Amino acid sequence: MLDLDTKNKLKEYLSLLEKDILIKLSVGSDEASKNMESFINEVSSLSNFIKVQKTSLERTPSFSINQVNKDFGISFAGVPLGHEFSSFILALLQVGGRKPKLDDNLISQIKNINDKLNFVTYVNLSCQICPDVVQTLNIMSVINPNISHTMVDGASFQDEVNAKNIMAVPTIYLNDDLFHSGRITIEEILEKLGINTTKNFSEQLFDVLVIGGGPAGASATIYAARKGIKTGLIAERIGGQVLDTSTIENVISVKSTTGTKLASDLEEHIKDYDATIIKGHKVKEISKTDYFNVTLENNTVINSKTVVIATGASWRNLNVPGEHELKTKGVAYCPHCDGPLFKGKDIAVVGGGNSGIEAAIDLAKIASHVTILEFLPELKADKVLQERLYKLPNVKVLTNVAVKEILGTEKVNGLIYTDRETSKEHRIDLEGVFVQIGLAPNTNWLGDFVERNKFGEILVDAKGATNVPGVFAAGDCTNSPYKQIIISMGSGATAALSAFNYLIRN
Ligand SMILES: Cc1cc2nc3c(=O)[nH]c(=O)nc-3n(C[C@H](O)[C@H](O)[C@H](O)COP(=O)(O)OP(=O)(O)OC[C@H]3O[C@@H](n4cnc5c(N)ncnc54)[C@H](O)[C@@H]3O)c2cc1C
Repeated sequence: MLDLDTKNKLKEYLSLLEKDILIKLSVGSDEASKNMESFINEVSSLSNFIKVQKTSLERTPSFSINQVNKDFGISFAGVPLGHEFSSFILALLQVGGRKPKLDDNLISQIKNINDKLNFVTYVNLSCQICPDVVQTLNIMSVINPNISHTMVDGASFQDEVNAKNIMAVPTIYLNDDLFHSGRITIEEILEKLGINTTKNFSEQLFDVLVIGGGPAGASATIYAARKGIKTGLIAERIGGQVLDTSTIENVISVKSTTGTKLASDLEEHIKDYDATIIKGHKVKEISKTDYFNVTLENNTVINSKTVVIATGASWRNLNVPGEHELKTKGVAYCPHCDGPLFKGKDIAVVGGGNSGIEAAIDLAKIASHVTILEFLPELKADKVLQERLYKLPNVKVLTNVAVKEILGTEKVNGLIYTDRETSKEHRIDLEGVFVQIGLAPNTNWLGDFVERNKFGEILVDAKGATNVPGVFAAGDCTNSPYKQIIISMGSGATAALSAFNYLIRN
């Protein structure tokens, strides 16, 4: 199942194994089992460290990765090819003795977990964000024998996915209960388990605290740290919107990259500097006493002399009945991530701008039929995209319509829209709704702390300064007229240099 090039690369990785590995394989006589057996045999033939033993596991076909006398609780149900191939290699290496790349503080917090935690993550192999979650939970299983984790390929276990009504990946279950759906970091997992991962930070005073880890926040952090001042970065997730992007071709001097690669490059670059990274946490409030007091959602308060706000933007919600209730049950925002779950189904894309039409073109390859609903009398997307769209046989465009309600209980089964010309209501039967109506700045949490415009964007001057002395802002959360990676990086640098100047003068 592996081509020569992949085999050679895998062989190189497997030469890093330090301990013998035992793969326990649960297979039957069906086609999927044969595929899995041949995959495992191919892999084991590449290293003398790997032995295979047939057994019976909870799911067939599946396999678990263990040391010879020690079970590690890591299982894969479905052949981990596609984006999960890297999760498989990392699991082999980590069970085989290589230390996972993780902060020592987090490792000791994971080691201290005494409860039995049995995680199951449902993925699809073309999901770009799933491997992060799979790899995180695998690392937790390697560190603590009380924790186990199984990756389940939804395509190979359709009945299980349907029975659980899973319509978004990754979806994580913990001890048979729904734990989380979507991207999640190790810090967020630990917080959800009741572990405070940030208490040490409340004792420190930062010179600059950057809030947000997208291109703007990453750049601000690097620029501040290079000045030798005490720099902290709080980010719900490093990468920001870049993580929702597939190919990026306009970061000058980088001809082409992917969102995932750019996000990990940003993180690696930040780590080269002496900055404290507080990842997986959201800020909920900011106030001023002697210093700026930044409160996280877990109530830890972190103090700093200056602040750079770079919280970016997120997908805008439709705010119609059914949208919130049916999120991850047919209402989706990320076509790259969740598109494959709507294979052969009738779906809608709400929004006729560039992102909506790009999404519709992509989704039309997977879904049976795509209806596009645009509020204005005409699509707003670039002409070239519209031309491509109108060539597709399975799309229908409705303009001058307003979505009124998304229907369904357990999962989406329809949508009601109003024809704005006739005011008549219509119903479409469908199973998925992709909302693509643009982005809104992530600034509501600020309240009146800094001045914002009617769109919620923070007002900044040419130096990135807000109306509050000592508070600077950068990137998509500001009134910058263009929202792009390189522009955010530039404004992050400006804000950090301005914060440094402010510190010198005050
Ligand atoms: C689908 C898509 C494709 C795109 N393609 C391109 C492209 O090809 N080229 C290009 O130049 N641009 C592209 N863009 C735009 C580009 O991604 C953004 O302009 C850029 O990411 C903005 O960077 P930012 O740092 O300002 O904000 P973001 O990238 O939005 O980052 C915001 C950061 O703040 C964090 N955050 C938010 N709220 C909080 C909080 N309360 N507490 C703590 N942290 C918080 C987030 O987790 C994140 O780390 C694309 C955008 C999208 C959505």
